[in-house]
Amino acid sequence: MEDLKNIIRDINDFPKKGIVFKDITTLLSDGKSFHRMIDLIAHRYIGMKIDQVVGVEARGFILGSALAYKLGTGITLVRKPGKLPFRTLRKTYDLEYGTDTLEIHEDAFVAGSRVIIADDLLATGGTMAAVVDLVRECGAEVVECTFMAELEFLEGRKRLPDGKVYSLLKF
Ligand code: 5GP
Repeated sequence: MEDLKNIIRDINDFPKKGIVFKDITTLLSDGKSFHRMIDLIAHRYIGMKIDQVVGVEARGFILGSALAYKLGTGITLVRKPGKLPFRTLRKTYDLEYGTDTLEIHEDAFVAGSRVIIADDLLATGGTMAAVVDLVRECGAEVVECTFMAELEFLEGRKRLPDGKVYSLLKF
């Protein structure tokens, strides 16, 4: 796993001064690494009853769609405000400075669907906590929140459902 971790690069002062951003584009653009990363994560869910994968805009769409393809499910999109064309449920959540909002189509799931939610990286957990709320409000059951990478020192998983968080690469 160290080789996959090493291919992710640190970008200092992005998007703001003082932040060290984990740039996963280097992992995505390397064919062998991308393929291995998807296979390792998908392997965890093969054989489980998963009805749908949810992808979080924007980098979560990449892991989400590859996982959905591997598991033979569809993918549901959680998007920034004003992007989804049908009626939506929305959730506003706090960031370090200010707030952000995410939306989902209100008819996204058949009631009781078992879903996996995919995003690229778990930091403070605020984004995923909002997505978990949206998915549950739409009547689905969250089987697991799954990430390519996790910044463990930020303890984001404490804000997410107990025992329902998985990340492949831990920093
Ligand atoms: P959180 O809400 O957990 O604090 O932040 C996670 C969200 O912000 C994810 O949607 C993720 O894409 C983005 N994010 C925050 N920090 C980073 C980072 O260092 N690298 C990447 N690739 N995404 C980040």
